[in-house]
Amino acid sequence: KGERLRLPPWLKTEIPLGKNYNRLKNSLRDLNLHTVCEEARCPNIGECWGGGEHGTATATIMLMGDTCTRGCLFCSVKTSRKPPPLDPNEPLNTAKAIAAWDLDYVVLTSVDRDDLVDGGAEHIAKTIRILKDIKARDPRANFHQSLAVLKHAKAVYPTMITKTSLMLGLGETDEQVESTMKELRDAGVDCLTLGQYMQPTRRHLKVEEYVTPTKFLHWENLGTKMGFLYTASGPLVRSSYKAGELFLKNLVQ
Ligand code: SF4
Ligand code: SF4
Repeated sequence: KGERLRLPPWLKTEIPLGKNYNRLKNSLRDLNLHTVCEEARCPNIGECWGGGEHGTATATIMLMGDTCTRGCLFCSVKTSRKPPPLDPNEPLNTAKAIAAWDLDYVVLTSVDRDDLVDGGAEHIAKTIRILKDIKARDPRANFHQSLAVLKHAKAVYPTMITKTSLMLGLGETDEQVESTMKELRDAGVDCLTLGQYMQPTRRHLKVEEYVTPTKFLHWENLGTKMGFLYTASGPLVRSSYKAGELFLKNLVQ
């Protein structure tokens, strides 16, 4: 009696590792947030946080702290009749974390807080309100959003010529430029321009580097090698650079 059954091999999972796993873990600690994934010792944590076999990262945030007023016999979440008060920063921190993590899917759940008059309903509602605000508030340049638009354009209209631009000089590494170009090509982008970022005013992002003309030529050659229909790369190249010429060239083809 009392002996635990040995875990069968099909329930043994890998120890979670990886960049995404560590990034999520550290940011949870910094923001004093909790997840069911950790508190319930879920065996899928490595796969879910790491992106899984389909590259879709998921996490389940547990609101209202890490201590539950119930005490279900199958559950490893901490339990107490009188847990610590709610963290007033949790709604904002949750929204900030979700916005920063760039996950594909987030589940919000919570412990039970029978000690609170409203059971924590207002706290959860506040979290959702802030989350929606943050999501709606930041419609600024977003790589994944742009990539999704370009992919969608190709999917619905495969013969449409798609074009995009990269600004260099913002502190990017060569590897990042190369992998971004590859991602664009994989998304079916036909034309690419690369130019030097110039700081419009002091309130805007600083120029980290003035990329040399030789380096721009390197990116142009690489673009051609990667199979872009057209690559224009130079310090003064802008997204509309020679747009008319390009239009006519493709019209003639
Ligand atoms: Fe487990 Fe769900 Fe978290 Fe995945 S998202 S690790 S299945 S609790
Ligand atoms: Fe675990 Fe609390 Fe949910 Fe019960 S109510 S399963 S103790 S988190």
